[in-house]
Amino acid sequence: MLPTMSRIISIPQPSSDPCGRMRADCTDCGCDLALHLPDPMRPLRMLATCEACGAWFLVEAVADESEAVMVRLPSYGSLRATTVN
Ligand SMILES: [Zn+2]
Repeated sequence: MLPTMSRIISIPQPSSDPCGRMRADCTDCGCDLALHLPDPMRPLRMLATCEACGAWFLVEAVADESEAVMVRLPSYGSLRATTVN
C-alpha cells in the first residue's frame, strides 16, 4: 500500500510546452520541476525534482497520449511514519 501522500495524479504530457521544453509543475508548491532522464532507454519515464520545496516525483508518459501520470515519492519521514513494526 502506498503512503497516503503518494497519490497518483494525471498531468499534461511533460513535452506539451509550446517551446518544446519538457516541463511539469510541483503539486506541493506549484513551482517548475526539474525533469531528469535517468534511463535513456526509457525516455518517457522521468524523475522530477523541485528545487523550491525538495519534493521528488516519478513521471511516466505514454506515447501518443495527452496526459502523463505522476506520483510523489515519499520522504524518509513519511515512510517511517507508515512503517508497521
Ligand atoms: Zn515544490
